[in-house]
Amino acid sequence: MRRPAISILLLITLLLPLQAYTWGFFAHQRINRLAVFTLPPELFGFYKKHIRYITENAVNPDRRRYAVANEAARHYIDLDVYGDSALYKLPRYWQQALKKYGEDTLQANGIVPWHISLMKYQLTQAFKERNADRILRLSTELGHYVADACVPLHTTRNYNGQLTGQRGIHAFWETRLPELYSDSYDFFIGQPEYIAQPQLKAWQLVGSAHLALDSVLFFEKQLTQEFDEEKKYSYEIRSNQTTRVYSRAFSEAYSRKLNGQVERQMRLAIHTIASFWYTAWVDAGQPDLSTLGSPSAAELQRLEMEKQEYEHGAHKPREEGVQ
Ligand SMILES: [Zn+2]
Repeated sequence: MRRPAISILLLITLLLPLQAYTWGFFAHQRINRLAVFTLPPELFGFYKKHIRYITENAVNPDRRRYAVANEAARHYIDLDVYGDSALYKLPRYWQQALKKYGEDTLQANGIVPWHISLMKYQLTQAFKERNADRILRLSTELGHYVADACVPLHTTRNYNGQLTGQRGIHAFWETRLPELYSDSYDFFIGQPEYIAQPQLKAWQLVGSAHLALDSVLFFEKQLTQEFDEEKKYSYEIRSNQTTRVYSRAFSEAYSRKLNGQVERQMRLAIHTIASFWYTAWVDAGQPDLSTLGSPSAAELQRLEMEKQEYEHGAHKPREEGVQ
């Protein structure tokens, strides 16, 4: 390649925006939305009426990571920091974990399974109080954290492949692949199930996501050896900006190697989210939702203010983009 071309390419690369959102905005919204359609009639009416809220706000916890210091830790858990037997030795209950490791260590390495449990408890309370604002908000955000717990790269300190020369793999797996292929995924998903032990369920999720981690990293590495650099990446215009992305050919090959893994994890997320909503409602005594109102003016205003805060947030969450 001649010199000017190299420097233009370099310039473009340096100017590229980071794709820094978990599961991508697209996937989080689709997952929350599809969860609504699996609900039994007693819940479906209320959730369907507010499906726009539940879909659009599915990404708020990610946006909040820029504005709120302790938000980031709720989205992941770096299991490997605790050693090979992390999944066996980490206490399932927050109080016991606190006693064993202390709050600083837990927060530093992520708390997603414990946070899911807290959200489930709060959602149950909101159903008991028949508080429409809180039911909507907590259902929406619980959906986000459950979906995050299904992502293999949310269970490791090598969350963006930065320790293995695979920087960018985070957004590749959870944003690029769903955007390219999720239209062809099978999203016919059965009715939710009652979760007898919500806390253990959250751990099951991170456990199964963690088991999938090896293949996420291994296949990308393997394919990188087969593809030339300029075949591995391409450039696409997104929101009027040139963005470096994994090429279609590379994405296709990776997706084939993963053999339905992204689809399976999305299906798992959808089914589990609906099951958590259903379980919270059952545990609250199955309140009648048909008489509940819509989000209050105060809640809509809170959302609007939060949105503005996100845009001026001072915090820098973990980087998950391609660069
Ligand atoms: Zn997230």
